[in-house]
Amino acid sequence: MLPIERRQQILLWLEQEECLRISEISKRLEFSEITIYRDIKPLLDQQKISKTSKGIRLVPQQQMLYNHCSYCHKACHSRLSVQLMKSNQQVEQTCCAHCALLRYQNCREDVLQIICRDFLTDTTINAKMACFLLHADINLHCCQPQALPFESVHQAKQFQSGFGGVIYDFEGAIQAIQTDMTGSACCHKET
Ligand SMILES: [Zn+2]
Ligand SMILES: [Zn+2]
Repeated sequence: MLPIERRQQILLWLEQEECLRISEISKRLEFSEITIYRDIKPLLDQQKISKTSKGIRLVPQQQMLYNHCSYCHKACHSRLSVQLMKSNQQVEQTCCAHCALLRYQNCREDVLQIICRDFLTDTTINAKMACFLLHADINLHCCQPQALPFESVHQAKQFQSGFGGVIYDFEGAIQAIQTDMTGSACCHKET
């Protein structure tokens, strides 16, 4: 087995199993740990994998950040975009909170965390703890109905007093978007 083949095998295992000890890899491939270390050195250098207390793991690919929305396939480039951390170490990106909420609804069990940006302060927040303003009188030119994430209900209310709309918690926003979309055409498809 060539080093490149071993490297591919290791990457394959990491995709399936998340984390592997060098000793375990050495046992499976029947090569010494020193050889395995030499094999994975380029992967570490290229930051494709990283060391953890439990061995090595794949690094979530950062270029995903500039990818397309995993729900409606629009390009994601604005600060409205949202990251979904999946249990297989992959990071999915959606163009806006609207798509993030609907995408989450499709694959709840696989999503560990959802990171979005507070609409006012631009700080990164945990979407599950955030509140969302729907139907505000502002057009962000993304998907309808748009959902604006806010970290604090207080600030969402302040924004609401100027721009109108309805405030929901995370689960409430998912329901509201789904209800709202029945019958009306969304950005991309009918559900
Ligand atoms: Zn989208
Ligand atoms: Zn969108």
